[in-house]
Amino acid sequence: MLNVNIDNEDEFRDIAASVKPLVLEFEGAYKRAAAEKGEEVELCGSIRIALKKDMTSKDDILGIIYLVIDESEKRLTIERKRIFLDERIVSLENTLEKKMRKADIGGLPKNFTDEEEIEKRIFRNAVTRAVYTALSEKTGQKLPWGTLTGIRPTKQILWCLAAGNAERTVKEYYRKNYLLSEEKLELALTVAKNENNLLTVKGNQSYFNNGFSLYIDIPFCPSTCYYCSFTSYPVAASGQFIEPYLNALFREIDEVSDYIYGRSNASTNVENDMNISIMKGKRLDSVYIGGGTPTTLSAEQLDRLITKIEQKFDLSEILEFTVEAGRPDTITRDKLEALKKHGVDRISINPQSMNQETLDIIGRRHTVEDIIKTYKTARELGFDNINMDIIIGLANETPKEVAHTVEEIKKLAPDDFTVHSLAIKRAAKLNTAKKFYADLQATEIEEAERISYEAAKEMGLEPYYMYRQKNMAGNNENVGYAKPGKYGVYNVLIMEERQSILALGCGASTKLVYPENGRIERIENVKSLMDYIGRTDEMVARKLGYR
Ligand code: SF4
Repeated sequence: MLNVNIDNEDEFRDIAASVKPLVLEFEGAYKRAAAEKGEEVELCGSIRIALKKDMTSKDDILGIIYLVIDESEKRLTIERKRIFLDERIVSLENTLEKKMRKADIGGLPKNFTDEEEIEKRIFRNAVTRAVYTALSEKTGQKLPWGTLTGIRPTKQILWCLAAGNAERTVKEYYRKNYLLSEEKLELALTVAKNENNLLTVKGNQSYFNNGFSLYIDIPFCPSTCYYCSFTSYPVAASGQFIEPYLNALFREIDEVSDYIYGRSNASTNVENDMNISIMKGKRLDSVYIGGGTPTTLSAEQLDRLITKIEQKFDLSEILEFTVEAGRPDTITRDKLEALKKHGVDRISINPQSMNQETLDIIGRRHTVEDIIKTYKTARELGFDNINMDIIIGLANETPKEVAHTVEEIKKLAPDDFTVHSLAIKRAAKLNTAKKFYADLQATEIEEAERISYEAAKEMGLEPYYMYRQKNMAGNNENVGYAKPGKYGVYNVLIMEERQSILALGCGASTKLVYPENGRIERIENVKSLMDYIGRTDEMVARKLGYR
């Protein structure tokens, strides 16, 4: 492993936070490239970064990188690299910032509008660029996302465009400053433009700042998929807790909504501004019931849940009501009818793979025919916005199996299609379940992604939201595609953090977005089902700022 030492790490904490993930990504890329040649290598040694804090003169050297790499054959090399500001990038920065500071769109991140934050960002980018260049020269590797290691690569691009900057300038800035590959740059820009269109309602770019969204978690599933990283309780072992769970959830819904709509005397903790008072007086824009698998509930339970939501929240202006039906083995005609009756207008039916052998291996207890049958029933009932998810990197699946999956999906022609890449770290951790993961080479993952992208295009779908995950297969990304006009509003809102999300239920994480300064805070509910049922009052109290 490469060790990273930064002079006075306390002082340069945010730089350390950016450099370390970048180095990890390089190590991963280096190992994967060697593995493709049948070699096993480790990139070990150390990087010492000696930094100067003074940035008054733009020509100043900001610091020095000492790169000491001890490769597997124990060769030691020491290199010194200067860290400096690039005048061409500084000029692009100035152009972008000028528009950002003038833009009246609310929620702009401070690192583009506040002098001190701008300076920190420029400094940090210069350091990460220098580390990237040094490691790239040393290992011969390039990272598709350059120095962008966060999970939301489009967030900042979106703000740059929303503030009225020319696409050409934004592109140039990301190419030079963050060293993105042309392919990822195109993808990120297309996604950001599509998001920008969705987020601009009647010409108003801050429309969503005046609203909030609601997320409800149903943490039950018919069985546990082997790659699952969510809070999920299989019905066989936990089915008896569904009713107690709904009772607890209804209590949380009652108390929190009564506070937001001023129907109760509850008050927030004045000494703690991290509370849901931010949602008072705001419009509810979207509702998303996820999990878990919400359709694990019976038709009657789904009816009761949505009736409760209708009674307690003002749904008169919502743009979207999604239920992530998810697994076909839980979806029945009467449940779909219950959803339809309540005006649910977007559902997910997620195959993950259309290969029966894979479904069996990963623990999905349903057939390919079940997926097709369920999908057709939903269409018959008039659902005209159906999403389907697939995963790249599942057991024994090469690009050939992915190609079969997308061919089958093309026949169904969903309105929305989401392509996930399985995270490697998690797969590696679950040693006992290793056989459930395909040991794909980076080039095969790229090929599978290309196949999915082509299929999306053939279905008339456009990429409209995306996120990266730490340690994803091949350092790639999850991409949501949809028909124009069928983009999932909630997906974009949660990814781009334009508004607060009230999240209720076991393991749900409420997000508070403060549009005046772009600040973001989270209030977590407990993940354990029994804790949630037993501590519902505490979950409500947390949302009022009493921790
Ligand atoms: S359906 Fe989703 S939440 Fe449920 S076990 Fe499978 S991956 Fe986990």
